[in-house]
Amino acid sequence: MPDYPIYRDPPEQCRTPDAEERSLWGRTLERIADHCRARSLFVLHYCTGCGAIELPPSMTSRFDLERVGMQPMVTPRQADLLLITGYLSVKTLKRVILTYEQMQGPKYVMGFGSCTINGGMYWNSYATVKRLDQYLPVDMYIAGCMPRPEAIQQAFLQLMEKIDSGRAQNWKEYYRRYDHYLGEQQALFGEQFHTPTDVIGEARHYSLFGPETLGEHTAKLAKYDLYHPGQGAVDALEVKR
Ligand code: SF4
Repeated sequence: MPDYPIYRDPPEQCRTPDAEERSLWGRTLERIADHCRARSLFVLHYCTGCGAIELPPSMTSRFDLERVGMQPMVTPRQADLLLITGYLSVKTLKRVILTYEQMQGPKYVMGFGSCTINGGMYWNSYATVKRLDQYLPVDMYIAGCMPRPEAIQQAFLQLMEKIDSGRAQNWKEYYRRYDHYLGEQQALFGEQFHTPTDVIGEARHYSLFGPETLGEHTAKLAKYDLYHPGQGAVDALEVKR
């Protein structure tokens, strides 16, 4: 066990101020940052289904989304937007959750095609996920099977407008209501499901730790000592509750 608790609060000088602490100046800076973010989106394609086939024409010369500030990114660490391009099998969803958790905030998720909304043509399959937003906060869906590049382009522009106006805040819900999302994940994968990501620590880092961050489902992680086996996770969760 390390000498210090792994979920300790960050030093005062590193802490992100919460909403009450923010000054008018701080909020103004945030608006400027949103304005810049909206025009500089690095996109991570998680090409799960047939909808991915519409991405090449969207990104290349015919529609050329790079001209509005969107560029592909190969690593979640540096990506702003996660695209889920089609149906998700239960196994694939685990990788998608891990990928999402590795992205830094602010981060956005877009679901391509009917399969991400309600299972689409695979709605009655035991192996596919019916609703992506049950497991991750989704900022925008594009309906269709599959959506055409014109629809994709329109959705990207709408997302940019949403980010610019400060309304793309769904990513914060994952931290504020982590127990809810973890509960849905555990219901699908089993109650021992966990990822190696320190979501609770990140919630503190972003000042998004709230009354619903911990709960009966995160308690199961402590019970099984799964969060960081052998590194005092049980103690840390108990202390910070
Ligand atoms: S919505 Fe249609 S095109 Fe997209 S993944 Fe599902 S079946 Fe394929």
